[in-house]
Amino acid sequence: MHEMSIALSIVETLEAKAREEGAGRISGIDLVIGKLAGIEPESLKFCFSAAAKGTLVEEAVLVIEEPEGLGECGECGRKFPVSFYYAECPGCRSLRVKIVSGEEFLIQSITIEDQEGE
Ligand SMILES: [Zn+2]
Repeated sequence: MHEMSIALSIVETLEAKAREEGAGRISGIDLVIGKLAGIEPESLKFCFSAAAKGTLVEEAVLVIEEPEGLGECGECGRKFPVSFYYAECPGCRSLRVKIVSGEEFLIQSITIEDQEGE
């Protein structure tokens, strides 16, 4: 499953980060997954909780932001929302549409729990 390998690599990245920061637990993760990124957020959440089991990331709360897709017409320059790849320009019907956003997939921020005071 596609989302499972993504979940595993996120867990891996975050664990490395947590160790770097002194082995604190990670309590929250903000992800940005564009609507055109080809990743199913619900499925990713599910895989993530499985992948994170027994790691420093186990209790992290996953927050996913899903920016809409945006296309730009190569003929008339018009920008418009797109919900998938093969979009047609609503202005001139051109198919020369470049996707300008909505494909992003990144870890926006992580929250590391401070272990001081334990
Ligand atoms: Zn156009």
